[in-house]
Amino acid sequence: MITFFNTLTRKKEIFQPIEDKIVKIYTCGPTVYDFAHIGNFRAYIFEDILHRFLEYEGFTVKRVMNITDIDDKTIIGALKENISLNQFTEKYIEAFFEDIKKLRIKTDNIIFSRATENIPEMVNLIKTLLEKGHAYKKENSIYFRISSFPEYGRLSHFDFSKIKTGTSVDADEYEKESARDFVLWKGEKDDFSWDTEIGKGRPGWHIECSAMGMKYLGETFDMHTGGVDNIFPHHENEIAQCEMATGKPFVKYWLHCQHLMVNGEKMSKSKGNFYTLRDLLKKGYDPVAIRYLLMSTHYRDPLNFTEKSLQQAKNTVDRWNDFYRRIKFLNIDERKNEQISQQCIKTENIFRESLGDDLNISMALAGIFELMHSTNNSITENNINRENLEEISKIIEKVDYVLQVLKPFEDSIDAEILTLIEKREQARKEKDFSQADKIRSILQEKGIILEDTPLGPRWKQKK
Ligand code: AMP
Ligand code: ZN
Repeated sequence: MITFFNTLTRKKEIFQPIEDKIVKIYTCGPTVYDFAHIGNFRAYIFEDILHRFLEYEGFTVKRVMNITDIDDKTIIGALKENISLNQFTEKYIEAFFEDIKKLRIKTDNIIFSRATENIPEMVNLIKTLLEKGHAYKKENSIYFRISSFPEYGRLSHFDFSKIKTGTSVDADEYEKESARDFVLWKGEKDDFSWDTEIGKGRPGWHIECSAMGMKYLGETFDMHTGGVDNIFPHHENEIAQCEMATGKPFVKYWLHCQHLMVNGEKMSKSKGNFYTLRDLLKKGYDPVAIRYLLMSTHYRDPLNFTEKSLQQAKNTVDRWNDFYRRIKFLNIDERKNEQISQQCIKTENIFRESLGDDLNISMALAGIFELMHSTNNSITENNINRENLEEISKIIEKVDYVLQVLKPFEDSIDAEILTLIEKREQARKEKDFSQADKIRSILQEKGIILEDTPLGPRWKQKK
């Protein structure tokens, strides 16, 4: 059984996709007016874990992520640099794909679609709303009539019954207090407009995602995701316009992740309290550690970013990889440890049950750490064999489809060093300390620094 917390009902619900074993997901993607910051990547990593976990569970995932290449911010940017919109957004789109690759966010089985490539679909949707009387023209722009949709506020759980009808708002982003009839089509103001059946102009942000979602996933689909800042007005408006256009429910499950914070405030461009991935890589941080930090707190809990916590994440990722190398290269074949075999099965069950419980990542990780501890104890006690080690590496590799923390290793160097490390461990076990010291100095000569940790010996190459 899999459950997810649905923002719509504010409850954990049993997950049952509309079509058996196929899950259709729409993800609000980046607005490409600048480099994405790691707050944005918290959202994309949460969605990546969701996507990968559903695949792990045997679902076929059909997913769409939009690239918002037309909105107030991209236009301001292009105007400032006096270049075309495409020229302006191209470099940020390219950077986005470079960044997600570094963070091991998957791109296969995802349709990435730019708003500017879907203008006819947006125009059609607006035409339907006009024909059905749920939208109206005012000057050159077109607005959605909120009074058409009595359920407005269903997602954000806000009572909008007292808002003044007939007044409108042109901005794409605004507070609940300024909720008005929102803009679907912005009448021509600058060079960035399309000449269409509904007039010259350009789409508002909300209609972009709705048109792209329905184009690729159908009028009703399973999941829509984003950060909590997307709930209002963006997703609230999407529900209103789609359901009034089609007469059908739009999305079954709405999942939103909490923000990445800095000193108690949302990390955001406008506050200036942000780090891009590039900033952190330049400082020498490891992208896998950044991924680990951003994923290891439950997606519905706020996460405060500090460089210290990034350092801790780096240590965990290193230990994880050292453990994996150790069991891959360990030359030990004592008796089979049935308890370890049982624990391997249990660890995978814990992993699946925990992530199936609204993506409880802390529980899923705790199960793996426990297996690492027991394995190291069994190695120390010579109570393990090759078959056990293979069972353990299989689990570590399997869950890595979702987690993505294992790093490729350079086999020859690693194998030589690991053999020496294990020989030293063996000598220590046999209390042959002079042999253990001898091996330590050979390793030192090779520039290897050893450290003994509860997860087994760790090694680093001296810089
Ligand atoms: P934007 O490019 O601003 O449209 O944002 C892209 C995605 O990042 C959306 O899903 C936002 O909800 C999400 N997002 C923005 N800031 C943060 C943050 N500080 N923490 C988590 N998610 C965020
Ligand atoms: Zn969106």
